[in-house]
Amino acid sequence: MQLLDCPVRNYAWGSRTALAGLRGEPGPSPHPEAELWMGAHPADPSRLVGSGATLLVEIAEDPVAALGQHVCERFDKQLPFLMKVLAAEEPLSIQAHPSKAQAQEGFERENQRGVPLDASSRNYKDDNHKPELLVALTQFSAMAGFRDPEATVALLEELGSPRFVPYRDLLAEQPDGSGLRALFTTWITLPSSDVAELVDDLAESCVALLGRSPRGPFAEVARNLLQLVERYPGDAGVLASILLNHITLQPGEGIFLDAGNLHAYLHGVGVELMANSDNVLRGGLTPKHVDVPELLRVVDFEPLELSPVPVRNAEPGGTAEQVYQVPIDEFALSRIELDATGLLHSVSHGLSRGGPQIIACTRGEVIARSGGEEVRVPAGGALWIPDSDPEVILHAGTARDEVFRAVVPQ
Ligand SMILES: [Zn+2]
Repeated sequence: MQLLDCPVRNYAWGSRTALAGLRGEPGPSPHPEAELWMGAHPADPSRLVGSGATLLVEIAEDPVAALGQHVCERFDKQLPFLMKVLAAEEPLSIQAHPSKAQAQEGFERENQRGVPLDASSRNYKDDNHKPELLVALTQFSAMAGFRDPEATVALLEELGSPRFVPYRDLLAEQPDGSGLRALFTTWITLPSSDVAELVDDLAESCVALLGRSPRGPFAEVARNLLQLVERYPGDAGVLASILLNHITLQPGEGIFLDAGNLHAYLHGVGVELMANSDNVLRGGLTPKHVDVPELLRVVDFEPLELSPVPVRNAEPGGTAEQVYQVPIDEFALSRIELDATGLLHSVSHGLSRGGPQIIACTRGEVIARSGGEEVRVPAGGALWIPDSDPEVILHAGTARDEVFRAVVPQ
């Protein structure tokens, strides 16, 4: 096992205080810090503290020792997941990710058309799907999947704008996936002057709604929409946001975003685990390339009832490790709480073996012991455990340790 030196990605939507705060460093940072990458992604792999080698090279040099035979065969000698700590001060773009079949077809099609891999108009950077699991570390607000159309009709009625009446009627007459597809397509293909007028009108309606019922069922949605209007005036993604589920996760709660789920993170700090892919189709709230026809091929318009991912104990009767239940081959995520006093949680916890593992400490300082070795992992730090290591036991270093554990399901 080895401590990892993990790269920080400075995107404009990041926070100047959250990741610094996690690492116990004085903030604000000189640039917004958006993502801390823990993994072997070729674009920005973590490095092993000590040797300075990248995790990508470490795995390539002895894939069987790093990943185990099963993962080598199943995932072509590559670490199949990427873990991140994500700190969103401002909303990220609305996006959806393709299924594996869509990604294979799209990647091949763009290759044949000769679109360079680094072109800004390129949709498919690889041939893999990109399911994502996000678990909140702070209160975390997000939008994901289409709300029940009947509820969206009620929202449009509550907003009370005459300009939105034809759109409300369109959805009321066809309150299903086809109606959602029709309305989304209408909005995202409107001329930009029409979008700007509708978004202005929406902002006024949200202010009025909040004046009438500041604690009503749509108050949170109205607040989110106003925040989006302020940041992205004239962006059709604001209109699309009317149709999505809006959720606020509490620390420890997670959402799973499978292929076709239209989503956007709005605000908060979280741990994100995803398959190793860069395939993103954007749908607004961004100055970047939006390919509407391709997005429409990928988005799943069936209404979705969004709720936090269920969790279960990793071991019968043991509550230290909670596993998030997601239907994915590439990764599994669990959250482990330890407590040096033993009053609230266990003092130590043995990790089951098999395949590669990355342990991210998000609170306190955890002590990892294995085969006579000891490594301290502070908050904001990450530990790489290859398949070939003997059993690793985590010990609490403080009274409130929290770690997240990424593995490949066996
Ligand atoms: Zn995403």
